[in-house]
Amino acid sequence: MYIINNAIDGKQVKSHSSRINPIYNPATGEQIAALPLSTNEEIETAIQLAKQAQIEWGQTPIAKRARIMFKFLQLLNENIDKLANEISREHGKTHEDALGECVRGIEVVEYACGMAQMLKGEFSQNVGPQIDSYSMRQPLGVVAGITPFNFPAMVPMWMYPMAIMAGNAFILKPSERDPSASIFAWELMKKAGLPDNIFNIVHGDKSAVDYLLDHQDIKAISFVGSTPIAEYVYARGTKSGKRVQALGGAKNHMIIMPDADMEQAVNALMGAAFGSAGERCMAISVAVPVGQETADKLIAALKPKIAALKIGPYTDENAQMGPLITKEHKEKIINYINKGIEEGAKLIVDGRDFRLQGYENGYFVGGTLFDNVTPNMSIYRDEIFGPLLSVVRKNSFAEALDLIHGHEYANGTAIFTRDGDTARSFAHQVEVGMVGINVPIPVPVAYHSFGGWKRSSFGDYGIYGPESVNFYTRLKTVTERWPTGIKEGAIFTFPNMNK
Ligand code: NAD
Repeated sequence: MYIINNAIDGKQVKSHSSRINPIYNPATGEQIAALPLSTNEEIETAIQLAKQAQIEWGQTPIAKRARIMFKFLQLLNENIDKLANEISREHGKTHEDALGECVRGIEVVEYACGMAQMLKGEFSQNVGPQIDSYSMRQPLGVVAGITPFNFPAMVPMWMYPMAIMAGNAFILKPSERDPSASIFAWELMKKAGLPDNIFNIVHGDKSAVDYLLDHQDIKAISFVGSTPIAEYVYARGTKSGKRVQALGGAKNHMIIMPDADMEQAVNALMGAAFGSAGERCMAISVAVPVGQETADKLIAALKPKIAALKIGPYTDENAQMGPLITKEHKEKIINYINKGIEEGAKLIVDGRDFRLQGYENGYFVGGTLFDNVTPNMSIYRDEIFGPLLSVVRKNSFAEALDLIHGHEYANGTAIFTRDGDTARSFAHQVEVGMVGINVPIPVPVAYHSFGGWKRSSFGDYGIYGPESVNFYTRLKTVTERWPTGIKEGAIFTFPNMNK
């Protein structure tokens, strides 16, 4: 069993907290690590040291900052397998899936390396008589990130490379369920030459989050997690005067039109619904076949594939999905399957009794499929975050679109069709932040920005990409007049281009 440290002042430091969180191997149910939940004094130290260090970092030439980020990028690529292991050991996802997560995180680092281009600012000459004007984007100071368990490396990387390259110091509070991947990445950042205290990590739970939210030296908060907490973080953070982006939960629908390539749609659905055991904010959890014939074909094709899913620990190279994150989460999913039956949905594949020899105490649930799900059922309304796919049958594209619009979440969605007109109508009309056309998991690449609509996101900025340049900087505009030879008296009219 290992103990997970904070990372402050250029070193890993053991917390003195008496509050200890156990970390489990989700495939076996064994405790593998202990995570002390930082005291307020420890968090305060991390913030104050970051505040001092940021002053010089914010004035460091951007090309010098970029050299460090390029080195970090190289180290990440050299250590990608180790990083993936750090993820899987505590999260439970398959090695291949963890590698995929690393690649998407690394793409943000690559994008952040080009920050010089994004911070160039603007210049206008002669905006008035001998007056020029220019604008620049300056760092905010110390900013913080609070991240969920399901992408322990990638989601923090949506934040800190961009924030740091923009000249801020960054405090990360990773998920208390699988925090080691962040510490591993921190070690690489240190090796890359990042000055001490520009990136500090403090572990903790609600108490640490509240401390960061209320602290006057934290200028912005990036949060990713469930909707109730996102909403809370947004309200409390903005109340204390911070800039906050808080990304929440999801219930992503995929429409399958009668003209879709059924084989392609079914394969896409399998990966999008059951990859990472459904623990993805962009997972498809609702399939919406249009027309009874499409629905019947879909169910017939999905049923054997779900029953044949290869489920195992991350050490099994053939596994397609792993266990759930905790015992409680496994129980929550089994409860939802029970509720789905009680509410009258038709259970086609039942994952409740899945057992894996040698891993009887692991948090595994088998792939589960419900047909005839209706919008009033809790398995439809709630974000379940597990390997449970609901099929809601609809008779037309318009009905399917209405269904999506009736849901409180609007993170991602997809349509499978061969018809360009339907696809275009969908892309233009659907009230969802990220849309796939024959693409099941439309997570934007690093040079676009990620963000849902409605109750899937609170705040005005998307995360990573161009939106995060604005989020992690503030605009300053200078209007200046040289030379000084101009003699004029006091002007009482509002300044304009003539005077
Ligand atoms: P969570 O909301 O339980 O935890 C997220 C973070 O909030 C953690 O760091 C946790 O320590 C902290 N936290 C938990 N309870 C808190 C409280 N009461 N007060 C203050 N802070 C608290 O989420 P999770 O279970 O770790 O992650 C899964 C959720 O994250 C799902 O809802 C998923 O959809 C969502 N998610 C969203 C996105 C997105 O981009 N929209 C991406 C990944 C995950």
